[in-house]
Amino acid sequence: MPSDRALTSLAEQPVTALKGVGDRFAQVLEKLHIRSLQDLLFHLPLRYQDRTRVIPIADLNAGQEAVIEGEVATADIVFGRRRSLVVRLQDNSGIITLRFFHFSAAQKSRFARGVRLRCYGEARHGNAGLELCHPETEIVHGAAAVTERALTPVYPLTEGVSQRRMRGLVQQVLAQLQDRQIAELLPPELLPKALRYPLRDALVYLHSPPADTQQAQLAAGLHPLQQRLALEELLAHHLSLLELRRNSARATAPPLIVNTALERDFLARLPFSLTAAQQRVCQEIATDLARDYPMMRLLQGDVGAGKTLVAAMAALRGIGAGAQVAIMAPTEILAEQHRLNFSAWLEPLGIVVAQLTGSLKATRRRKQLAQVASGEAQLVVGTHALFQAEVAFHNLALVIIDEQHRFGVRQRLELREKGAASGAIGRHQPHQLIMTATPIPRTLAMSAFADLDCSIIDELPPGRQPIQTVAISNDRRDQVMERVHTAIAEGRQAYWVCTLIEESESLQAQAAESTSLELTEVLDGVRVALVHGRLKPEQKEQVMSAFTAGEVDLLVATTVIEVGVDVPNASLMIIENPERLGLAQLHQLRGRVGRGSIASHCVLLYGKPLSNNGRARLQALRQHSDGFAIAEEDLRLRGPGEILGTRQTGEIQHRIADLQRDAGLLPQVQRIAASPALNQEIRRLLIRRWLQNKPRFAEA
Ligand code: ADP
Ligand code: MG
Repeated sequence: MPSDRALTSLAEQPVTALKGVGDRFAQVLEKLHIRSLQDLLFHLPLRYQDRTRVIPIADLNAGQEAVIEGEVATADIVFGRRRSLVVRLQDNSGIITLRFFHFSAAQKSRFARGVRLRCYGEARHGNAGLELCHPETEIVHGAAAVTERALTPVYPLTEGVSQRRMRGLVQQVLAQLQDRQIAELLPPELLPKALRYPLRDALVYLHSPPADTQQAQLAAGLHPLQQRLALEELLAHHLSLLELRRNSARATAPPLIVNTALERDFLARLPFSLTAAQQRVCQEIATDLARDYPMMRLLQGDVGAGKTLVAAMAALRGIGAGAQVAIMAPTEILAEQHRLNFSAWLEPLGIVVAQLTGSLKATRRRKQLAQVASGEAQLVVGTHALFQAEVAFHNLALVIIDEQHRFGVRQRLELREKGAASGAIGRHQPHQLIMTATPIPRTLAMSAFADLDCSIIDELPPGRQPIQTVAISNDRRDQVMERVHTAIAEGRQAYWVCTLIEESESLQAQAAESTSLELTEVLDGVRVALVHGRLKPEQKEQVMSAFTAGEVDLLVATTVIEVGVDVPNASLMIIENPERLGLAQLHQLRGRVGRGSIASHCVLLYGKPLSNNGRARLQALRQHSDGFAIAEEDLRLRGPGEILGTRQTGEIQHRIADLQRDAGLLPQVQRIAASPALNQEIRRLLIRRWLQNKPRFAEA
């Protein structure tokens, strides 16, 4: 049995219980989300320094941090580009340079010839061999032994707290730590045999690993005791998402039962039939919708797999049952595209489609709002403007969120609350279907979306031509323009996508504008149009529909066309500076071509020099056409934070686990989470222990 009382005592002892921690300093620690003694114990080191032994100077390698010891041979002020104090330090094995840019006269005189110095620092390549720049130095007398017995932890810090102070605090807690005070929440038999270590041992070890530890293993995060904690941390995250799921399962939702007539009519009017994968996924959704608690489903599928159609089928369920359905798109362009698609599909069936975006003119907006509130509109398409307070839904039974690659747990929570508050039937919550723009790597889907059920469309509609992708350097820009010219002369259409590192829309727009001028000038007789985020929505609409109608040959665009645009005759895409974008985004962009039956091409027009990582990304894109494979590659090259867009929000930040490195633990995590031996109380305590700094996450 875990001793809950003992745990609470550590968890509930504030840091001010420690020597030297007053209210002021407690506030500094608060910034690191450290409030209790338990929080300090779970504030784990980022890495370690080895100060337990003295390394012969000749054995030092560049990049290595180490203690060295020797006698001062010379100490001179050197006037190079910057004045510096250069000390030459010698031991039996060799000689090395210590360099100081900031120093006092007193310091210089300390380093008299023959003085024995012990230094700690990182060896780097200098002008004449290895150097230690601004090492920590200490004068030693005779054969003073090193006193450090353990590796020195390096902690995450914030302004106002030093490594030394943080180490002192953790040491104070460790010194008080008795077995009883830190609850072994996980029953040992649930842990894989190789990781069956007591929690307390793991914490003590990782805050001060003995000198003889396997340092390489530790640096890689693969020490069994690190893995023991990583497993528990991943489990805590997983449990918190399961908790979210349980909460929504406790809510009620209107069961949406089949209206076969409506669906039959709809399918009969389509110029094609659903793929087997689309049918399977529609069935999964239908089963969820028939239940009396909210569906929480993630729909994944590669670009062009036909997710929109699946969304339409889901919408028909809701509408057929007499309820209202909302579709939320991330951009105005995509919302507009959806309105066109859904109107074309559903209006012939007598369904009324309304549109709510941020940019509607006041009168039109008022009219749409009234239609939504009265229930006259059965389907509402919009951007996030859908969830503004003034929007009153009428019998809202299903919310479909499209192309939200970056739709984090926090937003999901908010949406649930809004959905519940915004005129759903009685106390019901609407069902939710979340569609991703591109596939999510399996490990991320298993961890970041564990609160959702997942449906996958793993098949493209028949007759798709693969997209030929080539990478060409900007030196050969002329040739690429020539190629565009030829394609257009043959009656095809093309995209020219401009990218910028800056998120600034106005800079992006400028770049696209000058490119469009350049192309208009060079490409004789080609009808060029421009679309970017700074255009008014009606201007964007105009340009897009001219392109769709074939009145424009070449569309110069920023990444605003990233999602949703669907023009089958466009079969060539040039992406400028693709090295600046992530793989998933490039794959999504590229998916705008290859939508018809014409063989399509994508040219990655990269700038030189290309970094290794950039080269690897372009290579991956040329090699793979499968979005799931690309997603895995993206994860490998960029890491989970970038992919989920949570690096800034810190939503999925682990203390010790690393989703990539520890992906192998996830099946264990799922197995443990499913175990009945993990009672409700243990689950709650685990979540609190590891996620207490993310209150909404933890409470949910
Ligand atoms: P995505 O999954 O990227 O959102 P879309 O829903 O935009 O893909 O579909 C891409 C294109 O494929 C659209 O033009 C759509 O009409 C077409 N499509 C969808 N399903 C099928 C199908 N079963 N057979 C043929 N074409 C289809
Ligand atoms: Mg789509």
